[in-house]
Amino acid sequence: MSQEIIIVGAGFAGSECAWACASRGVPVTLYEMRPVKMTPAHQTGHFSELVCSNSFKSQDPDTPAGQLKTEMTALGSLVIPTGQKHSVPGGSALAVDRENYAAEVTKTLEDHPLITVKREEFTPEMAQAHLANGGQLAICTGPLTTDPLSQWLADLTGRKHLYFYDAVSPTVEADSLDMDIIFAQSRYDKGGGDDYLNCPFNKEEYDAFVEALVAAEQVPLKGFEKAIYFEGCKPIEEIARKGHDSLRFGNFKPVGLTDPRTDRRPWAALQLRPENREKTLYSLVACQNRLKWGVQKEVLQMVPGLRDAEFVRLGVIHRNTYIEAPKALTPWLEFRDHPGLFVAGQLTGVEGYVESAAMGIYVGITLARRAQGLEPAVPSRPSAYGSLVSHLQDETERDFAPMNINWGLFPDPPDAPRKKDERRQKKLDAARVAFQSWKDQLT
Ligand SMILES: Cc1cc2nc3c(=O)[nH]c(=O)nc-3n(C[C@H](O)[C@H](O)[C@H](O)COP(=O)(O)OP(=O)(O)OC[C@H]3O[C@@H](n4cnc5c(N)ncnc54)[C@H](O)[C@@H]3O)c2cc1C
Repeated sequence: MSQEIIIVGAGFAGSECAWACASRGVPVTLYEMRPVKMTPAHQTGHFSELVCSNSFKSQDPDTPAGQLKTEMTALGSLVIPTGQKHSVPGGSALAVDRENYAAEVTKTLEDHPLITVKREEFTPEMAQAHLANGGQLAICTGPLTTDPLSQWLADLTGRKHLYFYDAVSPTVEADSLDMDIIFAQSRYDKGGGDDYLNCPFNKEEYDAFVEALVAAEQVPLKGFEKAIYFEGCKPIEEIARKGHDSLRFGNFKPVGLTDPRTDRRPWAALQLRPENREKTLYSLVACQNRLKWGVQKEVLQMVPGLRDAEFVRLGVIHRNTYIEAPKALTPWLEFRDHPGLFVAGQLTGVEGYVESAAMGIYVGITLARRAQGLEPAVPSRPSAYGSLVSHLQDETERDFAPMNINWGLFPDPPDAPRKKDERRQKKLDAARVAFQSWKDQLT
């Protein structure tokens, strides 16, 4: 039986995963195919390359991204302190010098005596052989995973649980909705009663919305993203361009709904569906779009009831690869049906450099514990880690999609104050206590 731990992909998650194992005294082999074979987005052979923006988001400790960084640093992160060492001015965000940052991460990992680096493409055959031999394997190959490995993951997950693109509808915080306008009702009162919330349009509101929508600027598709439109993921702005009423007869159809303010069917209705069990987040149903983010928010705030909506995620349609984690993975990110096979990073259904790195540390800790004969330790729910893992485990009926860390993922404390700032402070207080108790379990 093999004791070897293989980590595939030295991006954000794989770099942290290898580091977490090695710094706990557990040797690993790290496969990275670049520069031998490049992805369509990476430019260098460096580990942990930033493929686009150079921002690790807020470093204010009193924000969700700041709390996550604090937790990662306390767990021994490589990426966060190296980013801080190579920071460039970025306001409250941690912006990094991408070249020097990635060069240092690469050198640190390559120089570690417990990390063996192999610069080659990892294939399904290699994975199968390693698992058959009893080895542990962490796939950290990210949104641009090679085709053979993606196909293998799709087969393992039963295909319908692996996605090759994001067609993400925006998500809003529940307590930013105007409930004097929005009403709760499932279409024809079927199923879960008040599971759906409805934003009712009158004719004038609908006309103005469609006009703004079709005029708004879209994000251009990259060359490798050209073929990603499948059934059911056409952007709403393109549907609206087909005809002024096409949304009203399609994604925003009002049939089966009665606005309690008028006792009549609205002209059109945008539905909101809970995004988590606690109903702190709602996604805008069938509202996938490719509008640029600034203008997207402006347009969506024209929807009745969303004027002051806080968006934790805006709509995107882009190339991505991720597993439907709530259906396929354990809370410690091992395939339920394939012991020894883990995933980390964006493949799990988190979004962003920092969140992906965070999941790499988490899987690295679990692999190291297993090598030492210890059970996985799952983070306590209120921590930033617990909040991300909860997103990956929540089996609420929804279109599962990658998510950044945000306030809506943190659970409301039992005696949540009505004021937003106070409520957020309580969430942070609870996160800090919960994280500490989890960390104590790990040592
Ligand atoms: C075009 C684009 C732009 C993005 N812009 C941003 C942004 O601005 N900000 C942000 O926070 N996030 C952005 N993201 C998301 C970002 O890629 C992820 O958040 C982050 O890089 C994911 O980390 P990861 O470790 O999961 O994957 P990656 O960092 O992509 O690492 C995966 C690694 O696996 C390697 N690999 C793949 N297949 C194999 C194989 N078969 N064998 C060996 N190695 C393999 C790759 O070469 C790569 O090094 C963007 C993604 C894309 C595609």
